[in-house]
Amino acid sequence: MPGFEFFGEEERKEVNDVLNTGILMRYGFDAQRQGIWKAKELEQGLREKLNVQYAQLTSSGTSALSTIMAAMGIGAGDEVIMPTFTFVASFECVLFAGAMPVLVDIDDTLTLDPAAVEAAITPRTKAVMPVHMCGAMADLDALKAICDKHNLILLEDACQSFGGTYKGKALGTIGDAGAFSFDFVKTVTCAEGGGIVTNNKDLYEKCDAYSDHGHDHLGVDRGADLHPYIGYNFRISELHAAVGLAQLRKLDRFLEIQRRTKKIFKDALAAIPEVSFRRIPDEAGDSATFLGFFLPDETTTRAAAANMKAAGIVPFHYFDNNWHYIRNWEHFRNHRTLSRLAPQLEEAMAIYKDKQFPASDALISRCICTPINMSWSDEEVNARAAKLVKAVNDALGK
Ligand SMILES: *Cc1c(COP(=O)(O)O)cnc(C)c1O
Repeated sequence: MPGFEFFGEEERKEVNDVLNTGILMRYGFDAQRQGIWKAKELEQGLREKLNVQYAQLTSSGTSALSTIMAAMGIGAGDEVIMPTFTFVASFECVLFAGAMPVLVDIDDTLTLDPAAVEAAITPRTKAVMPVHMCGAMADLDALKAICDKHNLILLEDACQSFGGTYKGKALGTIGDAGAFSFDFVKTVTCAEGGGIVTNNKDLYEKCDAYSDHGHDHLGVDRGADLHPYIGYNFRISELHAAVGLAQLRKLDRFLEIQRRTKKIFKDALAAIPEVSFRRIPDEAGDSATFLGFFLPDETTTRAAAANMKAAGIVPFHYFDNNWHYIRNWEHFRNHRTLSRLAPQLEEAMAIYKDKQFPASDALISRCICTPINMSWSDEEVNARAAKLVKAVNDALGK
């Protein structure tokens, strides 16, 4: 799963190109950089690979999402509909924008339930943010239809699903904009980094400026740039972009390995009638970073997770972890921020203190996702598949 498994000569070469000029910043210093523009090259690579008109790199997936929200004008008084199952960064960005995260249930895709989204729309709803969790996509046709009908922005948090597609189109490029993470444990890594993709020129120009202190990047040098609005520093460095450039060239190989390994695991587990799998709206577009499956009940699932762990197979039982599912997000539930939220937002956030999500609980409590690593040998993959089957069978008392 993580691109760092295949860190090697190619990454070193790209980084050395930058070290040889000493120009570690992505903007300016045109004469000294001797034609080395790794961030620009990576943005070009993203546009080509994902077949999208505009790409903007940032310092992280978190800053990519925050930049998009600012560029879309999401702010005070707005609501953003997002899933109960995601990474904490998704709601962090909504709060950072000063908007209200409206969490709604997931379905057996482990992503937004379209019916729950529609039921949560209010006059304040500005955007719907599906999160393509664990390598695979949300039901984008249904979500897009809802957004079109209600005139809402569709923002794809594709941070965990770089390289995945939906009906032939790259995840992230189907909504109004998409965000990727290139942090250290993602499919393609820059060590730290993020990416924004969109086909909307105005949105792209705003993202470009916002992520660099509002610079319009139209001056003859940085000192001559104008600042149409206030921005921040969410820039990626040339060193990080250089790593990503080498990694992007390996993406097809990463996907091929993951898909092959995942199929072996899935075929092995499919022999157990009590096991059902996460529904994937377009199986062919799964980036296959994880295999997600359901067991009949919470007790069996906990037992299977414990057996897997004992056998050296990583079991993410998100019901019990505190990083990806609302159940254990104490800091979110009590909106524990270091500085005060706007009074209106603080009041709205009070609903999370004890809001329950029984439909999400019923799925996440029975779900295990196991990561697919790329460096396993064929022998190891087969041995792991056998251990996985045994761990689940033992939990089922078979
Ligand atoms: C990793 C991740 C992010 C944030 O990315 P960073 O680069 O770590 O800031 C956002 N959303 C999801 C779903 C993620 O998995």
